[in-house]
Amino acid sequence: MFTVHTQPVSFFSSPIFVGFSRELSPAIGMDRLNGSARLMIVSDLDSTMVDHDDPQNLSLLRFNALWEAYYRHDSFLVFSTGRSPASYKLLRAEKPLLTPDVAVMSVGTEIAYGHAMVPDYGWEQYLNQGWDRDIVLEETSKFPPLVPQSEIDQRPHKVSFYVEKVEALKIIDVLSERLEKRGLDVKIIYSSGTALDVLPRGAGKGQALSYLLKKFEFDGKLPVNTLVCGDSGNDAELFSIPAVYEGSLVIPKLNSCDLRLTQSWNMQVRNAQEELLQWHSENMKDNPNIIHATERCAAGIIQAIGSFCLGPNVSPRDIRDFQKCKVGIVNPGYEVVKFYLFYERWRRAEILISEQHMQNLKSVFYSSGTFVHPSGTELPIEQCLDAIGRLHGDREGKQFQLWVDRVSSAQIGSDTWLVKCYKWETFGEIFILAWYFLVSMR
Ligand SMILES: [Mg+2]
Repeated sequence: MFTVHTQPVSFFSSPIFVGFSRELSPAIGMDRLNGSARLMIVSDLDSTMVDHDDPQNLSLLRFNALWEAYYRHDSFLVFSTGRSPASYKLLRAEKPLLTPDVAVMSVGTEIAYGHAMVPDYGWEQYLNQGWDRDIVLEETSKFPPLVPQSEIDQRPHKVSFYVEKVEALKIIDVLSERLEKRGLDVKIIYSSGTALDVLPRGAGKGQALSYLLKKFEFDGKLPVNTLVCGDSGNDAELFSIPAVYEGSLVIPKLNSCDLRLTQSWNMQVRNAQEELLQWHSENMKDNPNIIHATERCAAGIIQAIGSFCLGPNVSPRDIRDFQKCKVGIVNPGYEVVKFYLFYERWRRAEILISEQHMQNLKSVFYSSGTFVHPSGTELPIEQCLDAIGRLHGDREGKQFQLWVDRVSSAQIGSDTWLVKCYKWETFGEIFILAWYFLVSMR
């Protein structure tokens, strides 16, 4: 490992070492953690994690800060979306989405791991059973109300259309019967009052989640808690697989919130679609492990974390004065999130400028500390702080937002960690993956 710096510096209350490594690339996907995830969140994206009516992305940024500060190091984030890989990448370019450990795309027909989005070929092979895309195209073309979705939403194991609800209800049974007669084994899912997807029988968000849980089980790493979150019809499967709502695949754990032996949780956001609400009232109304959040989208996910007592549920973004809010344990992710929240607020002039403030900042850093840019450029920490000081208010009144992603750490001493993260900024509509770095703190 190429580690440059071990000069002790500190920020706020925590001394920090600053350095950089080109080779600290954590294992991706399901191998990232050595043991079971403390929490696995499986969330839909559109209108669940992402609120398209929130142009400032405030609730998503609150969730991001919460996740990186408290959960990334020992938990799993899974996005499960109806979007194809290309459409998913477009959303990531548009919204401040974190990098999930697993991306389940195209309504559970494609599974990819980590930032590199390494495909799960075993899942693809499994879906080939009882599936012939050409036959699906041939049979669906006989129903004029089915309007094909755009090319980027058509996938090897997913054929998608737009259709009115009234027409969809007429078509689904007839189409199922015809495809069965042609020897196929498919499922048809209708979502959001507009989208109709034809998939292999073994596909779908719920089946993909079952598959992931079985892989975890095989490795002896079943998550301690699983929280699934959704808003529309294609999310119903997430709520209904036994592994989730009965927790049959998960090691029982006494929950401190309500003292029931259960560990799998489900949440519908406040803005849930009609078909999911109807499914809930027909199938799961009395299930105490399902809640209908009163908050929208990512704020609803934070609410569910609190309601089910799954861990910290106060986003660092909701803390205005960190000096008054001490955390009991040293948490590298929390320190990194806290630092960059200060940086964002400083540049937006949400923190009042004062020489005393900068002096306090400098006093907690060791003067010999060094900051190393991924390019290899080194800067004394004093110069970095001076540079930060000069940036006060340069983004005042602008839509300048910053978030950190993929915070990972390695303990290299009894009270010292090397921490790596990616920092993203948005200014106007431009997202920049600025750089990544290593810090360690004690
Ligand atoms: Mg949705």
